[in-house]
Amino acid sequence: MTETPRVDTLTFLRDPSCQRGRVFLVMEDAATWLQLHEIAAEIRRRFGVIDSEAAISARLRDLRNLYHQTVLRKRREGSHADEYRLVTTTQWYLCGCGHEFPASLGKYGCPNCHGEEGAELQGLLPFPGEAPQAELFGGES
Ligand SMILES: [Zn+2]
Repeated sequence: MTETPRVDTLTFLRDPSCQRGRVFLVMEDAATWLQLHEIAAEIRRRFGVIDSEAAISARLRDLRNLYHQTVLRKRREGSHADEYRLVTTTQWYLCGCGHEFPASLGKYGCPNCHGEEGAELQGLLPFPGEAPQAELFGGES
C-alpha cells in the first residue's frame, strides 16, 4: 500500500504552523461560506498571523489540486467577490437516489446506488439556516 490513509492526510493538513494548515483549519471549522478577507481575519484572530488574501487563494488551490480536498467556490449574492467552502468529512452528500452519505466517500460514493445516480454538488446539505445552493463552481479557482 503506497496510498496514504485519509486520516493521515487530515492530520497532516491540520498544521497551524504553516499557511496551508491555517487555511485548512479555518475552512474545516467554518459554519458559513467565507470570502478571502474573512478567512484572513479568522486566521489573524485564531492564530495571530497575517496571511495575505492572495496567499490564501493559492493555498485553497493547493488544497484542491495537491491534496484532493473538495473546495467549492461561488459568487456571494450582492458581492463582486467569490466565497469558499471546504467539504469536510463531517458533511454529507445528498444522492440523486435520495440517499444521504458522508462526503468522505466522495461524490459518487453512494452506498445505496453505488454512485449510479451521482450526487450533484447542489445536493450538498447547506449550512444551518442557509438556503440550498443554486449554483456552485467546483472547478479551478
Ligand atoms: Zn445513490
